[in-house]
Amino acid sequence: MLSSFKLWILTCLLVVHEWALAEAVISAISKLAEREKFRRLDEVVLGVGELQQIDLQIFKLALDQLKVPKFEGLRFRIRVEAAELKCRACGKSWSFDREMLEEDVREMIHFIPEISHAYLKCPRCGSPDFEILKGRGVWIREIKGEKLG
Ligand SMILES: [Zn+2]
Repeated sequence: MLSSFKLWILTCLLVVHEWALAEAVISAISKLAEREKFRRLDEVVLGVGELQQIDLQIFKLALDQLKVPKFEGLRFRIRVEAAELKCRACGKSWSFDREMLEEDVREMIHFIPEISHAYLKCPRCGSPDFEILKGRGVWIREIKGEKLG
């Protein structure tokens, strides 16, 4: 049963990853709220790169669980940002189009973005050598709430 054991390990690592990310986001929001003198937070919009290795459902659950009492009424919204790639050979940049890929490849790229180099090629010159300009990371796009005074 080696294969299912491996799968289990992968799942656990992913879960830890989402929780660690959520913790970092909550801590960043606390600092930001303090600096911007927010009395109450209503909504936080997070940006997530399309190639970021993250399970959005687990991530949202983790965010809700980790909210300190101070942010009780806070809702999270997540916007996924499309990836943008740039060819290192000819300089062409293009958007990553998920729909053009087979479903299993799409899944693999979601979990292991590095693998995308084996499946994606520059639409102009055909080179598989490209860099990822956009589409990774998690960031705070917007904070809504009530300020002090
Ligand atoms: Zn090219």
